[in-house]
Amino acid sequence: MPLEIVRNDITKMAVDAIVNAANESLLGGGGVDGAIHYAAGPKLLAECKTLGGCKTGKAKITGGYDLPAKYVIHTVGPIYEDGKHGEKALLESCYRESLALAKAHNCETVAFPLISSGVYGYPKDQALKVAIDVISDFLLENEMKVYIVIFDKASYKIGEKLFSDIAEYIDDHYVDERAVYRRESVSIRRSFRSVRAPQVPDLCEYKAMMPTEDLDAKLKQIDESFSQMLLRKIDEKGMTDAECYKKANIDRKLFSKIRSDVHYKPSKPTAIAFAISLELSLNETEDMLKKAGFALSHSNKFDIIIEYFISNGNYNIFEINEALFAFDQSLLGA
Ligand code: ADP
Repeated sequence: MPLEIVRNDITKMAVDAIVNAANESLLGGGGVDGAIHYAAGPKLLAECKTLGGCKTGKAKITGGYDLPAKYVIHTVGPIYEDGKHGEKALLESCYRESLALAKAHNCETVAFPLISSGVYGYPKDQALKVAIDVISDFLLENEMKVYIVIFDKASYKIGEKLFSDIAEYIDDHYVDERAVYRRESVSIRRSFRSVRAPQVPDLCEYKAMMPTEDLDAKLKQIDESFSQMLLRKIDEKGMTDAECYKKANIDRKLFSKIRSDVHYKPSKPTAIAFAISLELSLNETEDMLKKAGFALSHSNKFDIIIEYFISNGNYNIFEINEALFAFDQSLLGA
């Protein structure tokens, strides 16, 4: 998946470029800057000394030296005062400039820390939102794998309100499926005792009961595979393939595989990612999941969070992934 949020130490990331939250001098500092210089060794500082510093919102590139990454892109985030001093525009610029440099150096994989969210004081949830927004815009036009690296769980906070809304939704919907099963099996047994063989209408009767067009369309869809349903929905929504897989945060290779194999069985997160990208209703999502052999269940937090977003009409996959991450669930498309 083109954008992934991971918990790691950025100095350990074996990517083409890691991004450093530097200061204007580019001569090293604390936090992630200190960790990167420590891991890269003294040659990094020697190269940084030749660069003549860097303005806030801009970015410069050096070698990675002893790091697993080939390059370090140094960008200077804004110091957060009160949000009214152009901080957001500057922070957006850091991500844009860094991505442009990475692209100019043919980087296929890039890892960002949450710039400005440490000593520079940018509120972490807002810093994360800026990162996600700018990176996902960039990925709509460009092929690259981008990681947002979160160092510790505390750095990762979705908005308090969203967190509590989801927590409440989970509380309301999280059920012990066995209890439901017991209830259902009791009522099934009861109905067996009291009811004679059910009168099943034959197909013609069903046809007479339903508008023919609907039924014909439904019958045609019985044998439709996941891949066929996906392609049909893309057409119905008037999307291009690329719009769909990019919005689903699915990479092009995986999409081509699904497109060319009628019987392709995706993983559940991949199937859901497409449902989100296509902005399917809850019922349509269930239909699509069934094609891949899955269902949404109320005994699973992951499923309830997905249901929460779909029923609230929020189809932003990156926001959904933020929430899944905050609730320790695996991410969509991952
Ligand atoms: P800034 O001065 O831009 O705020 P900091 O280095 O103080 O930069 O913090 C930026 C973010 O980087 C913080 O969220 C901090 O938790 C995170 N961070 C610190 N060390 C690492 C590391 N080794 N890998 C990834 N992220 C890190």
